[in-house]
Amino acid sequence: MKSVTHYALGALVTGAVAPPLSRAVGLDLTPAELAVGVAIGTLAGVLPDIDTPRSVVTHGLLPLRGRGASAAVLLGQLLSIPPRAVGVLARSVFEHRGATHSLAFAAIWAVLAAPLYAALGCALIVGSGYMVELIAQLVAGADPLRMDPTAVVSWIVTRASGAMPLVILCVLCGYLSHLLADAMTIAPIRLWWPSRRRVWVLPRPLRIKTGGSFERYLLQPLAVIGAVAVIVVQVGIPLCNASAVL
Ligand SMILES: [Zn+2]
Repeated sequence: MKSVTHYALGALVTGAVAPPLSRAVGLDLTPAELAVGVAIGTLAGVLPDIDTPRSVVTHGLLPLRGRGASAAVLLGQLLSIPPRAVGVLARSVFEHRGATHSLAFAAIWAVLAAPLYAALGCALIVGSGYMVELIAQLVAGADPLRMDPTAVVSWIVTRASGAMPLVILCVLCGYLSHLLADAMTIAPIRLWWPSRRRVWVLPRPLRIKTGGSFERYLLQPLAVIGAVAVIVVQVGIPLCNASAVL
C-alpha cells in the first residue's frame, strides 16, 4: 500500500491498541507517553518497506516538501538513518515483501529500534560536541570544553533502556499494522519467514490493489480520519484534562 495509508494505519492502530495492551502487560501509559508512542508507531508503519528503494523510508521518514519543511526534512533524514542502514542489507539479500514483511522482522525491529536510535544519538551528540570544540579552538582560540563522552553515552543509554518497553510496544503496533494492510492486497507477504509460505488475509475477489481507487478514495481517507479521531480521544483530551487540573 501507499506510504500515507501506512502512516495513518500505524497511528490508528498504535493509538487504539497500545493503551489497553500496555495496561494488560502492566505498563500503564500516560497521555504524554502515548503521544510519543503514537509518533513511534506512525513511523514504524512504513518500516517494512526498507526492502524497496521506491519507499518513503529509503528517502527520509517524513515526506514533507516546500518552504518551512526544512526542519522536518532534516529530522526525517536523521530518523531514517538506522532504517536506511538496515535497508541496504535487506535489499541486497531479500526480495520485496519477503523477510522484512514477517513477524520475525517485526520482533527484531521492536527489540533493535531503541538501541539503534540510542547509538545514533550518541554518535550525533558526541560528534557535534567535538566539532563545536574544534571550531571554537580554531576560530576563537578558546579553551577546549573537555566534553566527557562517557557521560553523554551513559545518559543516553539510561534513557534508552527506560524507554524500551514503550518503544517495543509501539514499534510492534505500527509494524504489524503494515503487515496486516499489505496482506490485504493482491501481492502476498511472507508473514512466517523464513518459511516460504505466502500469506493473504482476504479471499481473492476482495484483495485490494495498491494505489487503486479503493485505497485512495476510501481506505486512505478513513485511516486518516480514524487516526486523527483516535489521537484526539486517546491523547488530546486526556492531555487537556491533565493541564486543566494543573
Ligand atoms: Zn510493505
